[in-house]
Amino acid sequence: MNVLKDLYRDVIVDHNRAPRNFRKINDANRVLEGFNPLCGDKLTVYLKLDGEVIKDLSFEGSGCAISVASASLMTERLKGRTRAEAGKLFDEVHALLTKDGMADTDQLGKLAALSGVHEYPSRVKCASLCWHTLKAALADSHQPVSTE
Ligand code: ZN
Repeated sequence: MNVLKDLYRDVIVDHNRAPRNFRKINDANRVLEGFNPLCGDKLTVYLKLDGEVIKDLSFEGSGCAISVASASLMTERLKGRTRAEAGKLFDEVHALLTKDGMADTDQLGKLAALSGVHEYPSRVKCASLCWHTLKAALADSHQPVSTE
């Protein structure tokens, strides 16, 4: 169990130190900002949609290790996937962050690294910020997302 915890922590540390897809997409067709006032996390999600396919996905911004690692894991996982897959994964991650043991960790893969977050209710919004922002961007919302 401790090995698993260490492994999970390593994933968070790695994705915070070297976030994947941390850049602007110049020809993005969806750009949306998200804020988590509780912690001060602030990010912008860039999305290039081609029909139902997420051709490219990236983010920029600043925040705590959990918010950055979650966004990094999200972009890595969903690039090249469909909107339907993104919606399904959003539900899985939501289950993982809010309910102990309900999520399908096989389905989540590396994202299971966020499983420890539910033990710290104040950090759940850090981990879910990028997901809520992506969901709103996919729904073509132009209203910045706030976790409050
Ligand atoms: Zn945070």
